[in-house]
Amino acid sequence: MVASVKSAPRAQAPGKGRGGAVTKPKTSEDTYRQMWRWDKVGTAAHCVDCYPTNCPYRAYVRDGEVWFSEARGTFPIVEKGVPDMNPMGCQKGAAWMEVLYGKQRVLHPLKRVGKRGSGKWQRVSWDEALDELAGALLDAIEDGGPQTIISLSGGSPGAIWAGGWPGIPGPLSTDNNSEVNDFAPGHYITWGKFDPVSSVDDWFHAELTFVWFANYAYTRIPYYHFALEARYKGAELIVVAPDVNPTTVHADYHVPVKMGTDGALCLSICKVLIDEGIYNETFVKEQTDLPLLVRRDNRMFLRACDVAEGGRDDQFYLHDTKTRSVVEAPRGTLALGKVEPALEGDYQATLKDGSVVKVAPVFQLLRERLKDYTPEKASAICGVNPKVIRTLARKVAVKRTNILTGEGNAGKHYHGDLMERAMLLMLALSGNWGRKGTGVRTWTTVGLGSLPPDMASQVLSNFKAEDPTMSDEIAAIELQKRAMTMGMGGIVPPVFVWYYHAGYRELWKRREYHDPSMARPFDEYFKEAVDKGWWQGVDLPGPDMTPRVLLLDGSNPIRRTPSGQNQFLRYLWPKLKMIATLELRMSASAMYSDLVLPVAAHYEKLGFCLPTTHVAGLVFGDRVAEPAGDSKPEWEIRGMLAQKLEKKAKERGLAEYTDAFGRTHRLEGLYNAHTANGAWDKQDFLVDQTVKSLASFGVLPEGTDLETMREKGYVRWANLGMSARAMAQGTEIKPDETFAPFRHHTEQKAPYPTLTRRAQFYIDHHWFLEAGEELPAHKDPPKMGGDFPFVISGGHNRWSVHALNIAHRLMLATHRGRPHMLMNPDDAAAKGIADNEEVRVHNEMGAITIPVKLAQSVPPGMVIIYNGWEPYQFRDGQGTNVVEAGMVKWLLLAGGYGHLRYWPMEWSPVTTMRGSRVEVSKLGTESGGERVAHKRKKRK
Ligand code: SF4
Repeated sequence: MVASVKSAPRAQAPGKGRGGAVTKPKTSEDTYRQMWRWDKVGTAAHCVDCYPTNCPYRAYVRDGEVWFSEARGTFPIVEKGVPDMNPMGCQKGAAWMEVLYGKQRVLHPLKRVGKRGSGKWQRVSWDEALDELAGALLDAIEDGGPQTIISLSGGSPGAIWAGGWPGIPGPLSTDNNSEVNDFAPGHYITWGKFDPVSSVDDWFHAELTFVWFANYAYTRIPYYHFALEARYKGAELIVVAPDVNPTTVHADYHVPVKMGTDGALCLSICKVLIDEGIYNETFVKEQTDLPLLVRRDNRMFLRACDVAEGGRDDQFYLHDTKTRSVVEAPRGTLALGKVEPALEGDYQATLKDGSVVKVAPVFQLLRERLKDYTPEKASAICGVNPKVIRTLARKVAVKRTNILTGEGNAGKHYHGDLMERAMLLMLALSGNWGRKGTGVRTWTTVGLGSLPPDMASQVLSNFKAEDPTMSDEIAAIELQKRAMTMGMGGIVPPVFVWYYHAGYRELWKRREYHDPSMARPFDEYFKEAVDKGWWQGVDLPGPDMTPRVLLLDGSNPIRRTPSGQNQFLRYLWPKLKMIATLELRMSASAMYSDLVLPVAAHYEKLGFCLPTTHVAGLVFGDRVAEPAGDSKPEWEIRGMLAQKLEKKAKERGLAEYTDAFGRTHRLEGLYNAHTANGAWDKQDFLVDQTVKSLASFGVLPEGTDLETMREKGYVRWANLGMSARAMAQGTEIKPDETFAPFRHHTEQKAPYPTLTRRAQFYIDHHWFLEAGEELPAHKDPPKMGGDFPFVISGGHNRWSVHALNIAHRLMLATHRGRPHMLMNPDDAAAKGIADNEEVRVHNEMGAITIPVKLAQSVPPGMVIIYNGWEPYQFRDGQGTNVVEAGMVKWLLLAGGYGHLRYWPMEWSPVTTMRGSRVEVSKLGTESGGERVAHKRKKRK
């Protein structure tokens, strides 16, 4: 099973080594050599969704168990003069065996015997467990239809390829990116896509690197070196963060922005760029909507349907300074030809009824908006010295600038969309995307294509006949969006489950937790969005489709969803007849499940890591050891479940069922459908076929197969394939160059997949106009959670990133080993709180008990609890998310507008939590705020 097996002389372990026989070593050298013995070495990969993931490892196996692993260190140098990616990995990868064989591992199927969450389990066989699950699934299908089965997926380690639930057609899977909110809505609003991302070695080309909404020294351990290596050739590193964090110590400048005011800082930099005339005029005119004309009378873009009968509503205009006339902006290309568009001034346009209206370029409107963001005015908001703001602007103007952010971390703020739009405006004004060493990093995954290129090209060209101004990228995205409205994906934004079935409606109705510029009640916006069909086909499950079965696959909503522990247990859980979880460890959500089914981890099954342009290649992990206990790969579990469903359906006389879209599915032949008539029932065969088909599509080098992957562990892509997500990267893979996205736009002048076909900073959707957010702006964060003096922040931790390693014995020993909250010593002293003292952190949502870690690095008025702690690690079982508000900004429900339409993992309403308000009280000094929270709970 293991490809690159290195044989070592079999020696005997000294003492009681893991599984080894015991003999007495003769010399001390002998002792050491015997300790470091292994039976074989396998090609492994750490495919955790810690993002980056994709860390190729060598796993050393002794007596059937992995006892040691090390980063492979075999990445090639891609571009001459640019460092390689070796070694990729981190302390969690090196100590992964502690999770594989740790006490938190679930080894056998477990059935709940006490009440949910009581921790009382009975070990059952796979047959018993799947029998019960299949029965519950069929009950749900018969009673309410398959759409009453909801599947939530997570970052199940190594399961990226394997796929988790559900294995039967018809159930609804929530959009994972929307659910965890790793989304960057501001990027999407601007580009019509949120995640074109460079390869990590491309960071080396940057001359100015911002680390913003992130802490790379903690969370990007394998990649961070590129940003630091760039400094050796003169690049500067700027950390923008309210706190002093471990990344700050490497920075040339630390910009201590007040939490939630980053938008004001950015807009002020933009103002300096414009006022000092140091912006990139060519880039702005060609790549952005800033030269497009807007009507002064109604603040809408001037459109062809305004000026001519039957004109398109997506044809926009420029004022050509050469001909002094209003001309059509090209839609099929960004190239302006002989047109020299105006950026400033007021002009006139004649409408189809003969009336004349004033029009102005977006750039002119932007100038007017930026009057409020002089460095001095912005400084009063964000706390950054005006001199620093001017310095930053002058650097950005002349340097290749790269922004490294976290996973949609700005998007975890209520006004994250505005902050991101302001950041992109800064990059646009300085021409900083679409070339090496520039851009902004979030996370990304590409689809790698599921069709042969000639077939995919044919499909796209047929579709483009509808509108020849569409590029391949736009056509591919459009096709996916339309498929969604027809329910072809089975993927739905989770917001509808939360709103209709998990009690979030009551929470989101709280007007005082929203921005004051929300003119109408949240419910009205929600209703308008649904009534107008903006989410047609994905606004499921509807209010009358009460969920019956919840399937979790490495997903942990009780811990991770803002307010999840409050909402789900109280509102959603009582409705569910069955909660089944595929897990390798006992997570909080597994604890509240009815069935826990043990899955094999990476190192125990075949799998690929998430395909991402960060490494621009395919990383493969082999089965180097047998799955621990009774655990099984997801693929196998799905097959077993399919067989069980078929059998039980036959017993019930249930042959077929209909889904929410009226499609009929047959239960007979489910297993054959899952395995392609048995051809795919062996993982090795399926993986081999997958690799070979990618090679035949030209995505991997010719001749690549499973054996190649086993030998190399990593193969660089030959191209990105023809999926929508791959094309949205907008750049080809080159064998000897780092990868920088957007080059199709900047070099080939391909249009953007937005309404205006340009990077769009002006959104004339009526909701955005009503909110005053047609252009980027700063708005103060609303008081989510109540009017309390502290803002709470988080971020991924160094020892676990998510919760996967949070109970890891070795990792816990490297720090305080239990949940803790960082707090400024002056704030603590004012309340008489000592280091390590347990306190109550509370707001109107709930309360947690947690020890304080005094930290000068945290500014007054802010507290930080890093992400990942399971609720059961807190004294009273209440985890951090009980005080995280989980509000949805109403504008993210907008639709029916060009690119503002659902596309999986892209445009979708997300819950936010950063900057929720809390109070901190010494134990026993419960404040009014907490009493309010308790009273609310009691009332319910
Ligand atoms: Fe790599 Fe993430 Fe695993 Fe660390 S935790 S080895 S960075 S995949």
